[in-house]
Amino acid sequence: MDWVSRFRRTSDEPLEAPRTPEEVVLRLLAGNARFVCVAAPHVPAGSTVPPTAAAAPAPAAPVPKQAPFCAVLGCSDARVPSELVFEAGPNELFVVRVAGNVLGDECLGSLEYALHNFRDSLRLLLVLGHTGCGAVTAAVDAYLNPTGRNSTAFTRSLRAVVNHVLVAVRSGALSLEECWGAGVQSEPGYRDALIEISVYLNAAMTAYQLREEVRTSEESGTRTMFAVFDLATCQVIGPDLDPATDDTGKLSPAPADPDELIALGHQVAASPMVSRHLSDALRATRYSAPGPANV
Ligand SMILES: [Zn+2]
Repeated sequence: MDWVSRFRRTSDEPLEAPRTPEEVVLRLLAGNARFVCVAAPHVPAGSTVPPTAAAAPAPAAPVPKQAPFCAVLGCSDARVPSELVFEAGPNELFVVRVAGNVLGDECLGSLEYALHNFRDSLRLLLVLGHTGCGAVTAAVDAYLNPTGRNSTAFTRSLRAVVNHVLVAVRSGALSLEECWGAGVQSEPGYRDALIEISVYLNAAMTAYQLREEVRTSEESGTRTMFAVFDLATCQVIGPDLDPATDDTGKLSPAPADPDELIALGHQVAASPMVSRHLSDALRATRYSAPGPANV
């Protein structure tokens, strides 16, 4: 089964994934054997026969020098494999994946390692969020219902992830209110709208934070950008969150300052992909009267 078929498999289709840890081990080893055939064809295929003293060792081959051109901070979500999303091969992306693509100390340390060690090849730091992010959804639910059972059941470690994302959620909520008025919170689609905008702002804010941390590296030619991957279309999307938009803004530069972050929040709050979750009545107020703030 190719990766496309695996990605598109729905819950209604037969489960072809390994069912036990032992089956997982076999699946992983079989996958590695196929990878070896392609990546290291000089290595003899694995055998169940123990090697003998007379057996010739595999000929030595040079180990490639690590030289990625892009470092990606992405989410751990199994549906967003960075290399496949950008059709990149080995040694092209330096990938850090963590739930919610949040910038904890270890993640920042990994990216700083890449910056310092791959100066000759690394040209871009990319924060990649994605639609339908579970970490963002959890943070939105914790924000909307802080005393709810799900909010209090987080372990300390899970709370750390959610707390990172909450900053973007609060900013998203403020942007929605400034764009649509305080009544937006009582809209039936408010939660969905808040998830949409928070996904984008979380990626943007993480990129801003990362840019602040590694500012000196930009002077050496490495840029920091962010983007959102749309699970439905497999496309990288820009601030209008519309996969159909054909523009070069799908990968956006990290905001340079808080004012840019605020302007971005307003832009996303007014985008059709966010406003589609709001009622026609509320949207009519925005476009028929000089009410909510311009963006
Ligand atoms: Zn995610």
